Amino acid sequence: MPMPPYPIYCITKGCKNIAGYKIAGRWSDGVQSELKTFALCCEECLPRWLHTSRAKHKASRLAPGETLDPPGIYRMERGRRDRILERLEDLEKKLEG
Ligand SMILES: [Zn+2]
Repeated sequence: MPMPPYPIYCITKGCKNIAGYKIAGRWSDGVQSELKTFALCCEECLPRWLHTSRAKHKASRLAPGETLDPPGIYRMERGRRDRILERLEDLEKKLEG
């Protein structure tokens, strides 16, 4: 299993934790589709980044024919591809309150 050569850290300024989560939304232009990353962060910073990412999503402008789903939380696993990342819907609901 190929692993990245270095760990990915939380994007919060001053946070030294490893990023265990990816906040991302499914983007599509009708032909191609991919997981668009909003944030990579640790568990502690998740509530804040989920909130920020949802706000960013609402403000995002799309070209005609493009769709972008509201960002959700995915567990990051080193060496894994986006398409098999596990989505943590229970955690999203909990953080949304
Ligand atoms: Zn953090």
